[in-house]
Amino acid sequence: KENSTRENNVAKIKVVVRKRPLNKKEVSRKEDDIVTVCDDSYLAVHEPKLKVDLTAYVEKHEFCFDAVLDQHVTNDEVYRNTVEPIIPTIFQRTKATCFAYGQTGSGKTYTMQPLPIRAAEDLVRLLRQPVYRNQRFKLWLSYFEIYGGKLFDLLSDRKKLCMREDGRQQVCIVGLQEFEVSDVQIVKEFIERGNAARSTGSTGANEESSRSHAILQLVVKKHNEVKDSKRNNNNDGNESRIGKVVGKISFIDLAGSERGADTTDNDRQTRIEGAEINKSLLALKECIRALDNDQIHIPFRGSKLTEVLRDSFVGNSRTVMISCISPNAGSCEHTLNTLRYADRVK
Ligand code: ADP
Ligand code: MG
Repeated sequence: KENSTRENNVAKIKVVVRKRPLNKKEVSRKEDDIVTVCDDSYLAVHEPKLKVDLTAYVEKHEFCFDAVLDQHVTNDEVYRNTVEPIIPTIFQRTKATCFAYGQTGSGKTYTMQPLPIRAAEDLVRLLRQPVYRNQRFKLWLSYFEIYGGKLFDLLSDRKKLCMREDGRQQVCIVGLQEFEVSDVQIVKEFIERGNAARSTGSTGANEESSRSHAILQLVVKKHNEVKDSKRNNNNDGNESRIGKVVGKISFIDLAGSERGADTTDNDRQTRIEGAEINKSLLALKECIRALDNDQIHIPFRGSKLTEVLRDSFVGNSRTVMISCISPNAGSCEHTLNTLRYADRVK
């Protein structure tokens, strides 16, 4: 009883905005910083505009979120504001998701990268406590990508994966490699390995990876010693498939939000990818809204992204949306789009 009360104190959905500092290029171009963080939940965007007679004026847009993180906030503070409160709930059957949303260059990867490492640190520490060690709980990691509506394993040579649902609404990604995590160094290595495997085309790494969603999952499983070792002998599958999922957290570095607008590009492939990204970001918004309204029907069939995360949208779930924004005047339109998206999520 006490546990469930504590768990309910962690908001089901939390929307956080993070502003990055102006970068060197923007400073050298003397671009204005148009985003003002007013307090820890409130920000204003000062949009430069021209009247018909070409006199310049500024239109002010104000937004309120669960938390607004200013440019000097560290990654560690981001962790404490977003993922840390969720960690204990993972042991209480919670499926959690943490998204980084925003235009390319707004700081999604910068924000997302350290989070699973810190989370694994805390999870490993909890797992070492006698109460969990005696129950044979273990932590597993997987890392895959959704690119053009298809799944690729980032930890096994970009092997193409497919998804299956079992009768109990559990999502199974067939062939996805899971690795046991016993210390944090391993997590860092897997992240580096996975990042090196992310979509890179002729146009260069960052350009291509901005068209894919990268999903890193940390899963706590409970293992039954006797039964598992027996089944392991008959089954060449790896042990992680045998353990029973207790809870999990997924870290999703979303495709650049501006990519969803690539639907009129001259290049056919770019158009198809743009349409897929647009569809998935819209579907994601609808799913989170449905969650927030405690709707029975969650429209997860809207896209591959939401289908893959299906089991995290039902039952005991926690969602953190970190919306990353660029402060420079040149990004104003994208910044407003990102803030409006975040606003509608909740
Ligand atoms: P995205 O993944 O959204 O395309 P990145 O995370 O790659 O963006 O960030 C773009 C650049 O800005 C990187 O060089 C990154 O180091 C820098 N950056 C992003 N956010 C911050 C921040 N909060 N503080 C300092 N530098 C940042
Ligand atoms: Mg990135």
